[in-house]
Amino acid sequence: MATTRAAVVPTAGTSAAPADRKQIAVTNPATGEAVGAVPDQTAAEVDALAQTLRAAQLEWEDLGPRGRARHLLNWLNWIVDNSDHVLGLVHREAGKSWGDASIELMVCVEVINYYAKRGGKFLADERRSIHGPASFNKRLRILRRPYQLVGVITPWNYPLAMQMMDVPGALMAGAAVLTKPSEVTPLAWAEVVRAWNEEIDAPPVLGCATGAGETGRAVIEAVDMIQFTGSTRTGRAIGIRAAERLIPASLELGGKDAMIVLSDADLDRAVRGAVWGGLFNAGQSCVAVERIYVEAPVYDEFVHRLVAEVGRLRQGHDAQGAFAADYGAMATVDQLAIVEHHVADALAKGARVLTGGRRAERGLFYPATVLVDVDHSMDCIREETFGPLLPVMRVKSEEEAIALANDSQYGLAGSVWTSSPARGRRVGRRIETGGMNINNAMTNVFQFPLPMGGWKQSGIGHRFGGPNGVRKYTRQQAFVSERIPLKNEMHWYPYTLAKGALVRRVLRLTGTHGWKRRLGRTPS
Ligand code: ADP
Repeated sequence: MATTRAAVVPTAGTSAAPADRKQIAVTNPATGEAVGAVPDQTAAEVDALAQTLRAAQLEWEDLGPRGRARHLLNWLNWIVDNSDHVLGLVHREAGKSWGDASIELMVCVEVINYYAKRGGKFLADERRSIHGPASFNKRLRILRRPYQLVGVITPWNYPLAMQMMDVPGALMAGAAVLTKPSEVTPLAWAEVVRAWNEEIDAPPVLGCATGAGETGRAVIEAVDMIQFTGSTRTGRAIGIRAAERLIPASLELGGKDAMIVLSDADLDRAVRGAVWGGLFNAGQSCVAVERIYVEAPVYDEFVHRLVAEVGRLRQGHDAQGAFAADYGAMATVDQLAIVEHHVADALAKGARVLTGGRRAERGLFYPATVLVDVDHSMDCIREETFGPLLPVMRVKSEEEAIALANDSQYGLAGSVWTSSPARGRRVGRRIETGGMNINNAMTNVFQFPLPMGGWKQSGIGHRFGGPNGVRKYTRQQAFVSERIPLKNEMHWYPYTLAKGALVRRVLRLTGTHGWKRRLGRTPS
């Protein structure tokens, strides 16, 4: 089964590039400083990379889950040993606060350990009991064989963690993996892929293609299955192309998560949850709190405390290791423009800004902004903002909160805040989302045994979490073998009257209902 090991997988920055090749410059959005550059790889280069990855896949699969886990754990050790270096790239290429950048290491540790430990169990052959007398001599199993080459395309908001949610599961499944990070923040990911190929003596089954949409398109053409995270617009285009190629696509797309604060909620906790859930990473998370519905009896108090809590936050791009800022810059000019547009649209339609509401003079900073008097005609409630906005609406009842939360094209996650577990369950289960948090925000994503995925326009399939986070990268093989070697089967040729009559009798006896019919009589 073994194939030859491919020599070196060209990762970003290490491939033999033509001298005149286009580079993509990466700048720190907080300071405007250059952070690095990556090659803008062509379709031909992506294709060549795909071939080397494919060539190494069978040998990788043959290592078995334990052998593969060993390499993943070596990789994790390297990442932790070099975390200042790697997180430094995350910090600068995305303009984050050091605290926001640091959380990405947690995802590496948790996801790799989760799948390295459990991958073998999730991939084990499954036995099934036979059904029906015709199968009496059969032994039934389900085998799981990986797609040979999986593509993973990610956006810019978590340069390391986005890929890390998908890649360990795909590698554990035995697939080779062709990744493409965002052209906005490719450096940290390219560096950990380089480490896989150059630092830990791992088989060359992980590659990194760098570039923008064209490079991403080439990845779709080269792989057998695609995992995509990003905008609903690009996800739809990828889904269409995957359908044309007849390859599966797992899509994790936009979100507009609602937070419902009921009148019996612990307001201290709810306010802190709203602030972290809405503003972590400057609000640039698909599962961020994007709109808040508060029951009338506690609305005024909630808003008052929310504004005070937001006022205590520190925005900035602190020094590496400093933990001196809470949240950082917006990653791109375009994203900042969306936030500005959502605020302008809300103000034009009658909303009020209680704090924030105007971009900073320098750097791509937008301050945390609380909006009130908002309604469902406004873009800040209907469209994904992906920024530090907290629009708050007063609701009369939990029924109204449920109706408004569900009045959205998106269905990624959400939260309900209440001191009554029964109320939390009752309201939470009626929200049309793939994830639900009671008295917490975004935390469903970090519960690795649970599936993470979106409903409605927020995606198709589940992204990661639990057994499916490995199995989705495999194909089920229905594996049938004979228990006792027989010369012939009842339904094989030649057909005879005697065999026909016997089959009919057995079918009637074992497959029909009511004793008279079983014994061959048709009840009158
Ligand atoms: P964003 O602009 O917010 O990053 P996108 O959904 O446009 O969101 O991009 C997410 C990822 O998809 C990025 O890595 C991007 O380069 C890639 N991408 C963009 N267009 C395509 C496409 N047509 N096919 C494949 N990948 C694409």
